[in-house]
Amino acid sequence: MSRRRRVYEGKAKVLYEGPEPGTLIQHFKDDATAFDATKRATIEGKGVLNNRISEFIFTRLNEIGVPTHFIRSLNMREQLIREVEIIPCEVVVRNVAAGSLSKRLGIEEGTMLPRSIIEFYYKNDELHDPMVSEEHITAFGWATPQEIDDMMALALRINDFLTGLFLGVGIRLVDFKVEFGRLYEGDMVRVVLADEISPDCCRLWDIRTNDKLDKDRFRRDMGGLVEAYQEVARRLGVLVENEPKRRGGPTLVK
Ligand code: UDP
Repeated sequence: MSRRRRVYEGKAKVLYEGPEPGTLIQHFKDDATAFDATKRATIEGKGVLNNRISEFIFTRLNEIGVPTHFIRSLNMREQLIREVEIIPCEVVVRNVAAGSLSKRLGIEEGTMLPRSIIEFYYKNDELHDPMVSEEHITAFGWATPQEIDDMMALALRINDFLTGLFLGVGIRLVDFKVEFGRLYEGDMVRVVLADEISPDCCRLWDIRTNDKLDKDRFRRDMGGLVEAYQEVARRLGVLVENEPKRRGGPTLVK
């Protein structure tokens, strides 16, 4: 057996060459970073939970016709994905004020926003992912106007779907970040959802207690990160440990 080729290593994931051309294997690590990777830790079990949660969400999104890079789950930490060209823009959707929005604009955390707000950030670690406008994106050629339209339309559909999914299990979707890629099929190219959707890139608050069930537990030294991610996985019905009979989807919270 030969060792598989590593194509890319990021902060929380590794991409390996896939079994067929045009495919990759996305491997979820236990590493956590925050504040441009100035804060780091290894949190045992995080990768497995993020893989499970992300695979569940991407499968549901595929089912409702949101195109994604996800093909299928391979094992506890890995999924088979389509190789895409990542568009260098992080797309953030916000429903409730928190994090950098609260800080920059002085809006108290927890304030319901009058409507969902989409923001773009230029993916560049050296520049600390600066916020950019559509003008910057098109002027510098990071994406075309059509691709921006596609990303915004998909981000809003994803937001509507996830808001409902999480609300059903007693969780408020405060905000989240997604990334998109260009999928080349013959002489066609289309924008698809890539990367991951997990508590690492969402803010998830318990509806009743406002407990944080996301990476802010790590950013703000609150502890209990794995327990919080487990709680999200459990409510979505994707936690297999200790619950072999239930892996059938979310449990409605009344
Ligand atoms: N986010 C992310 N990766 C980033 C920046 C933000 O996944 O590099 C997510 C973050 O978890 C939150 C949302 O995007 O759910 C909005 O983050 P914000 O702009 O408030 O930045 P932060 O407070 O994380 O610095």
